[in-house]
Amino acid sequence: MISTDINEAVQCLVRGDIVSIPTETVYGLAGNIYDENAIKKIFELKKRPLFNPLIVHTHSITELDKFVDYTPSKAQILAKKFWPGSLTLVLKKKNNVPDLITAGKDTVAIRVPKHPVALKLLEGLEFPLAAPSANPFGSISPTRAEHVHNYFGDQLSIVLDGGSCENGLESTIIGFNGDEPVLYRLGSISIEEIEAEVGSIEIANKKEKAPDAPGMLSRHYAPSTRTYLVDNVSEYIKTKAGRIGIILFESSEAHQNIQTQITLSETGNLKEAASKLYESLHQLDKLNLDCIVAEKFPDYGLGKSINDRLERATKQKD
Ligand code: AMP
Ligand code: MG
Repeated sequence: MISTDINEAVQCLVRGDIVSIPTETVYGLAGNIYDENAIKKIFELKKRPLFNPLIVHTHSITELDKFVDYTPSKAQILAKKFWPGSLTLVLKKKNNVPDLITAGKDTVAIRVPKHPVALKLLEGLEFPLAAPSANPFGSISPTRAEHVHNYFGDQLSIVLDGGSCENGLESTIIGFNGDEPVLYRLGSISIEEIEAEVGSIEIANKKEKAPDAPGMLSRHYAPSTRTYLVDNVSEYIKTKAGRIGIILFESSEAHQNIQTQITLSETGNLKEAASKLYESLHQLDKLNLDCIVAEKFPDYGLGKSINDRLERATKQKD
């Protein structure tokens, strides 16, 4: 049921239920990190593999020491600058953080979300929440309560409605190699914004044998409609037959095969484009199109994060 009753959500979570919550990134499927059954339910609902660890959500930077053993000074700088907000830090964990949350790793991913509903909810709880995105594993992340309801229907007692997610893209994840920050996942906060605070950062190598960021699979965030990411949409659609939906950054196109087109930001604003990306993929995916063609975004700022998601959306199932 879609609801705006934060108190009821608190009661559900205390009972050990799973609640979908709004955050400024995407909607989450939230449960008490210390309740093993609740956490197992999250993995089951999402059909998420257990090797893929969850992010711990808490209400204040002052909570960090409860879960984390050691905070490098650059992590402190980033937390102070970006929390509450769309930055996740991966840090050495304390023993009280359950292994199920961290997939057995000795690090924990943690963030303080900015959405007022999420913060109020977290402040009303005596435990933090694990909250992966509220979508079946691999599919498009939800940015509105209706998206969550369409995925899970009555399997959830409450989808807490906080409107459309302001950022509409997952958090940026930063881990540490010793005391130096490493980018694990592109997201709502651009690399440039991070580097302005802590200097240049290393990018985690996806091909490493034991990747530090498990779960960064190449196919993810994917519509069920076949999706392509191309440099030049107008040239590409000339080569395609059938009913096509297109996603463009700031321009528009005219061609007989275009069934629907969505321009993400007429003013060329990457933040606006990011916030509308998943909503647009949800919309196009409902139309029974033969394919979706998306334009490659500029390779800087949030354009990099948008391209990362679109690249994963276009990967074929194995
Ligand atoms: P989400 O799918 O948005 O819930 O984000 C979870 C992602 O955070 C995982 O897929 C990992 O890539 C990353 N993550 C979570 N915990 C850890 C950890 N302890 N070490 C490294 N990456 C982590
Ligand atoms: Mg997710």
